[in-house]
Amino acid sequence: MDFHDVEKKVSQSGSELVELHAAVRQLQARVDRHSLVIQVLKEMLLSQAGFSEDGFLERLERTVAQKADDKTCRKCGKAMSAKHNRCIYCAEQRPPELL
Ligand SMILES: [Zn+2]
Repeated sequence: MDFHDVEKKVSQSGSELVELHAAVRQLQARVDRHSLVIQVLKEMLLSQAGFSEDGFLERLERTVAQKADDKTCRKCGKAMSAKHNRCIYCAEQRPPELL
């Protein structure tokens, strides 16, 4: 690899870095917008009769726990890959709703 090749590689990775920065900025802006939308939806929901902050948090916790459960095998408790329909440790089949 001569000096020209090195120079070319450095300028290529520089432009890749600029692209990555732009992509991260776009994603950050999107996340900020989504947060705002979720906040407004939550406020609208909580202003309705029958909905409470506690109920919201309880449901959120349940969903987070369910998500964590989905990533572990029901039989042996080891981590399950999203790529496989069976546990690679004990061959337990993934529940059909999670396929
Ligand atoms: Zn298993």
